[in-house]
Amino acid sequence: MTYEPVIGLEIHAQLATRTKIFCGCSTAFGAPPNTHVCPVCLGLPGALPVLNRRAVDYAIKAALALGCEVQPASIFARKNYFYPDLPKGYQISQYERPLALGGGLDVAVDGTPRRIGLTRIHMEEDAGKSLHEGFADSDRRTYVDYNRSGVPLIEIVSEPDLRSAAEASAFFSQLRDILVWLGVNDGNMEEGSLRCDANVSVRPAGQREFGTKAEVKNINSFRYVQKALEYEIERQIDLVEGGGRVVQETRLFDSAAGRTFSMRSKEEAHDYRYFPEPDLPPVIVEAERIAAVRATMTELPDARRRRFVAAYGLPEYDAGVLTQSAALADYFEQVASASGNAKGASNWVMGELLRTLNERNTPIEEVPLAPAALAGLIALVDRGTISSSIAKDVFGKMYASGRAADEIVAAEGLAQIGDESALLAIVQSVLAANPDAAAQYRAGKTATFGFLVGQVMKASKGKGNPKVINELLRRELGS
Ligand SMILES: [Zn+2]
Repeated sequence: MTYEPVIGLEIHAQLATRTKIFCGCSTAFGAPPNTHVCPVCLGLPGALPVLNRRAVDYAIKAALALGCEVQPASIFARKNYFYPDLPKGYQISQYERPLALGGGLDVAVDGTPRRIGLTRIHMEEDAGKSLHEGFADSDRRTYVDYNRSGVPLIEIVSEPDLRSAAEASAFFSQLRDILVWLGVNDGNMEEGSLRCDANVSVRPAGQREFGTKAEVKNINSFRYVQKALEYEIERQIDLVEGGGRVVQETRLFDSAAGRTFSMRSKEEAHDYRYFPEPDLPPVIVEAERIAAVRATMTELPDARRRRFVAAYGLPEYDAGVLTQSAALADYFEQVASASGNAKGASNWVMGELLRTLNERNTPIEEVPLAPAALAGLIALVDRGTISSSIAKDVFGKMYASGRAADEIVAAEGLAQIGDESALLAIVQSVLAANPDAAAQYRAGKTATFGFLVGQVMKASKGKGNPKVINELLRRELGS
């Protein structure tokens, strides 16, 4: 019998605000433990939460980009449970009335896109972090770092629409790209900014009812999503085929062993005793606020990629590379419009520019070369003032010095030699120095032509106009 997996994802994304969701403490990663804390995020008695306005705007932005309906009123609730990393004894989260409902994402595995629905997006605060190792007395004690406590999160819950580990992985990856593009999340799974839990069940192919699901938690690295799900799907199919049944439980993924294992069964599941948070008013989102957030949103990657192909005539590949980030796409568009040569701009941005940025580990946001300056270089090549190989040298000098292309070309005498009489002398001296190659060419071995062109280019220090050199050589060789 063949089985079909049914997967739904719950993705926690940290909102990229400077401060926490209910207090003014910094959200910066990597600070010494318990240095970004205050009475609010330590849950001290009497401390009152105040909602971070920007966190709500970011959550609205994500919801709009994913096609969700932002609710005019949503409500924070207390989710009660006891755990050392949760100092208040409850987490403030949205429950019955989340910020946004519905929405979805088109995910393509093997070419054909499928619509994956979203159930909801709600806001909540993160908990602290228990440190079980790394201390001399870690065998006896657990330490807690509350720097994360109160960091703003959105939880994005998908419908059980995913049908394979590969599809789930593609969905997660696309979601990540959108959140990063919007600037609401930094996409950094290693630092815990993006986490994924999965609800997984299997059913015989063709059956309508869902099987019993298990929840796989803490898939804490981007590349483990597919591995964890593949393992869990196989485990459930083996179980069912062997006459057993899947039990509803929470499982953890052990990335070192490449398997999931049971953490707690349904009988041990928490009763969170949710009730509305009395210290926070409902979150009221008016139409004007939605419009204002929408106005700050840049075109989404997918739409921009399609526009680059349609408006600039770029190949799909170029459009894909150039829309990897909003900043890179913006840069390209400025170079393209200033140079009037979109394909040239694409070649330079994807080629020399990205290569140089990668080599120096410099983000595009900090590129020292203005788009207009790169456009100036492209114009020099287009006009035939310099050859493309000289242009690469000029690019390196522009990048290092910030000087304009025409200034470098003039100062260093790099302009292409297109003057026939100047080049003719070089061509004649090259032919005189290479009589064998010339004779071979005349005898029909035309492959030596390229060698002779190379010699002339070399003798002209790369400045000879290749078209003129070609014509002169052919004329001199009598062909
Ligand atoms: Zn605080």
